[in-house]
Amino acid sequence: MIVRLWRSLMLSPALEKQRQQLFAQTVRGMESRLAPVKAPAEMITALRWGMAELDRTLAETPASIRATVACRAGCGHCCSVPVDVQAHEVFFAAEHIQKTFSPAALAGVLERTTAHRARVSVLTSDERSRLLHSCPLLSPGGSCTIYEGRPEICRAHHASDAAVCAASTHPADFQQVHIPSLQARMFAVMLGMDEAIEAAGFDDRAYDFGSALHEALTNSLCLARWIRRQPAFPDACLADQVSWRV
Ligand code: SF4
Repeated sequence: MIVRLWRSLMLSPALEKQRQQLFAQTVRGMESRLAPVKAPAEMITALRWGMAELDRTLAETPASIRATVACRAGCGHCCSVPVDVQAHEVFFAAEHIQKTFSPAALAGVLERTTAHRARVSVLTSDERSRLLHSCPLLSPGGSCTIYEGRPEICRAHHASDAAVCAASTHPADFQQVHIPSLQARMFAVMLGMDEAIEAAGFDDRAYDFGSALHEALTNSLCLARWIRRQPAFPDACLADQVSWRV
């Protein structure tokens, strides 16, 4: 399962310092952008900054580390695991879909997220954590159909060996090929965004991405509710009934 677990990474003092700096500067940057937010459009602007920080962090990671990334366009093996997200990531993805998808493409997303939601709604947490089923936003060719609007965890995930990803039989298998020095940087920014959103009082529970996205696309009240610091989505969309954050 792709979750925001902060693993005990053996980092050099220099990288640990950089990780802490990235985390702190993301929290500060996000907090300053969240403070004046009163309307949905302002929230999306603040989130766009955070997502761009993730992309910038990857771009500024030393080339020697980026060279170890085996991920390539059309390789969607890691998109077949349960995706845990927070509400802001769902709204960011929903906004991207609503702004860029044709009516036919939107109808396709609704059809696939409806099926996804029905499938996971009957699973126990344990069953869901073992599920290897394609994300409803993955194209038949193995590409993300919402690349610019994809969640934080999708931006932060990189693997060093595509063959291991392809042979995975359990979501935990993907952990074997993480790239610690890259993950440390990416997770610092991701968790910095999450920290600022939590500190600002927004619902920061973990939702099942496909289920919550279906709700966001079919219920226009979700975003307004979340901005009022209320639960964004029904409990039935939660990734787990048990708190998972560490
Ligand atoms: S949102 Fe895109 S990148 Fe993330 S799991 Fe789904 S298809 Fe993959």
